Amino acid sequence: MSRVPMQSVLVFLCLLTGCAAGPETAAISEQAIFPTPAATLPSPTPTTTPVRPTPTFTLTPSLSSSPTARDPFRVTPATIMMHRSNANFDSVLFLQELVAILKAHSFHVITYREISANPAITTIEQGRLAIITIDDISLQYPMAPSVEAMIEILLEAGYPAVLGIVTEGVNPDPLVVSRLRQLNELGWEIATHTDQHSNLGLMEQSAPRYIFTEISLSQDKIENAVGVRPITLILPEGQMVNDRTQIERAGIVWIVGINGGNSYDSTRDSFYVGREGPSGTAALTFEIMMRRFAP
Ligand SMILES: [Zn+2]
Repeated sequence: MSRVPMQSVLVFLCLLTGCAAGPETAAISEQAIFPTPAATLPSPTPTTTPVRPTPTFTLTPSLSSSPTARDPFRVTPATIMMHRSNANFDSVLFLQELVAILKAHSFHVITYREISANPAITTIEQGRLAIITIDDISLQYPMAPSVEAMIEILLEAGYPAVLGIVTEGVNPDPLVVSRLRQLNELGWEIATHTDQHSNLGLMEQSAPRYIFTEISLSQDKIENAVGVRPITLILPEGQMVNDRTQIERAGIVWIVGINGGNSYDSTRDSFYVGREGPSGTAALTFEIMMRRFAP
């Protein structure tokens, strides 16, 4: 019986399953700037494409201990973007259903900070990772009941989330602060969503150096209140800048938008990654996420 080296098999599997997207993907995603997030939400699609099964192969520890054997391009974990409920959409019910689906498919829900602490995880567990983000949480005003309810669902599920905090104002709400401190200790990630929820893409055209101020001011306020300095920026309105110098200057590692960013170049100083918003039901959204983030 002929023996094929394990690494060759793994590299071959990797090619087959698309462990790495080409450099073109990243180049497009970083420059893709769209005027409104609403225009980019995928329209509901027919359900003719089956949900991809979770990959069953396992990468061996020997591969993970040899970084040169891995492609620098990594697939972004399947990422959902949540906001509070509104008159037309029940975020709590949606998230409850999505959590059940993630559980059924044995997904590992992580945070961006966790990838920074363990960069190989996006290779080793590719196709089985998910990230849940909740945007527009004010440091100064009480959390919306639906946001509190989503947090409870995730706590019960044992899943951490990434919380996008808007810091505008000078009087942090003590209840919000203690909640964020508690969640941070449980491994949740506190991300900056800027100080005034400013569209950084527009700001770049008029006053690019304010991008740094808008982010660092928010990091200062979060650090003072919660005790942790964010390394993740959730872009207001999903608007990316062309030149990320000011963002990197603020010490941001993860730049989270909406469009593109289905993969990222792990050799860079900062990473642009995208997210999927809810599209109708949790089942349909999960299908879209699988097509997008599990190429
Ligand atoms: Zn927002």
